[in-house]
Amino acid sequence: MTAESSHADIVVIGAGIMGLSTAYHLARERPKLRIVVLDAGYLCGGASGRNGGGIRAQWSNEANIRLMQESLHLFGEFAKEHRINTWLRRGGYLFVARSAAKQRALEQSVAVQNECGLSSRLLTAKEARAVVPELEVRDIALASYNPTDAVVFPWPFVWGYAEGARELGVDIRTFTRVIGFEKRGRGIRRVSTTRGSIDTEAVVNAAGAHSADVAKLLEVDMPNRPQRHEICSSEPLKPWLTPLVADLDDGVYFSQSTRGEIVGGVADPEAQPGTDQSSSVRFLALYARALVRLCPRLASVRVLRQWAGLYDITPDSHPIVGPVDEVEGFFQASGFMGHGFMMAPIIGKLLAQHIAHGTPLPLFERWNLRRFRQGRLLEEKMIIG
Ligand SMILES: Cc1cc2nc3c(=O)[nH]c(=O)nc-3n(C[C@H](O)[C@H](O)[C@H](O)COP(=O)(O)OP(=O)(O)OC[C@H]3O[C@@H](n4cnc5c(N)ncnc54)[C@H](O)[C@@H]3O)c2cc1C
Repeated sequence: MTAESSHADIVVIGAGIMGLSTAYHLARERPKLRIVVLDAGYLCGGASGRNGGGIRAQWSNEANIRLMQESLHLFGEFAKEHRINTWLRRGGYLFVARSAAKQRALEQSVAVQNECGLSSRLLTAKEARAVVPELEVRDIALASYNPTDAVVFPWPFVWGYAEGARELGVDIRTFTRVIGFEKRGRGIRRVSTTRGSIDTEAVVNAAGAHSADVAKLLEVDMPNRPQRHEICSSEPLKPWLTPLVADLDDGVYFSQSTRGEIVGGVADPEAQPGTDQSSSVRFLALYARALVRLCPRLASVRVLRQWAGLYDITPDSHPIVGPVDEVEGFFQASGFMGHGFMMAPIIGKLLAQHIAHGTPLPLFERWNLRRFRQGRLLEEKMIIG
């Protein structure tokens, strides 16, 4: 298919990891499909190029745990499958809880995780210190640790999926913004972009924090809201920190990259919806305070780089995936908050199977847009940020 082609079997909006994983898996499932991926900007320009690279199976509900067990497996295979270095480091995740409520959340979550066969375990504060000797454990009531969780460098996954999709014939068009649709009855007829239009009857909305804007062009009302999330990286240090450490109470998290930098962020309790991606001194102050409380040794470390990206927030912190009732052939893959990177390999694969073969997926029923209208909000205790 040439870049000028004006017809596609499927148009994927968004060349972040979610759109690219979906396109790659679609091309594998149905090699003859004409697939076009459109992105308003460049590869890695969205949240997929701006995140902390944390990938974990420590969740509280069974569906998320099982999904992430499968996704972690796909992450592990990625380097070989796509012939690219992913800097995957399986140092585990250490969650800590200070309040009684978060302590209970850890206890309940680890019980479900163990039923799913995950090797996570609860640790006392003293035991947590055996995993990270530099941790200040005075305030810590309980911790949980899963040694098979990991941290990756995000960019190779975006590049790997893009290259893999291109090799399978997928047409990826960057700097091509979707600006409208034409409909035929209850379905889609055409996608309009800043660089011409494409006739198609099937569209995947993987526009991340802009998914609600894209859906609005089809008069589909989605509750997703963008929200800035900041992150920073320190100067490189000698390796000393094995797991990613995350505090369930204030949402601070940090890990050490393979190059030695401490990469981390913290939730801002006063963050407002919006698309501002600038960096703030307020974040540095919040992060420094939370980080140094957990790990006093980091007080003298210099910040090397600071940046921000957009979380794609939904009212129940769960994604919106699959078809919608309002428009035929309009599939969603959005609302992934601060955990869409880790879920993209498995979600892209399952969504591709669903679109290509109509494979029914109970998960997508759970994650359907209509749950908000029906008041069926979902619950997950292991959300940070
Ligand atoms: C600071 C930070 C830290 C994070 N840490 C983690 C982490 O440790 N682990 C984890 O799993 N997740 C993390 N996340 C979340 C994760 O990055 C996202 O959930 C994931 O990258 C979402 O992928 P996506 O493909 O849906 O969106 P994106 O990567 O944002 O891609 C969406 C794309 O859609 C394009 N687009 C938007 N509108 C249009 C339009 N009209 N036409 C065409 N294209 C359009 C955009 O240009 C963009 O490239 C973090 C996020 C941030 C911001």
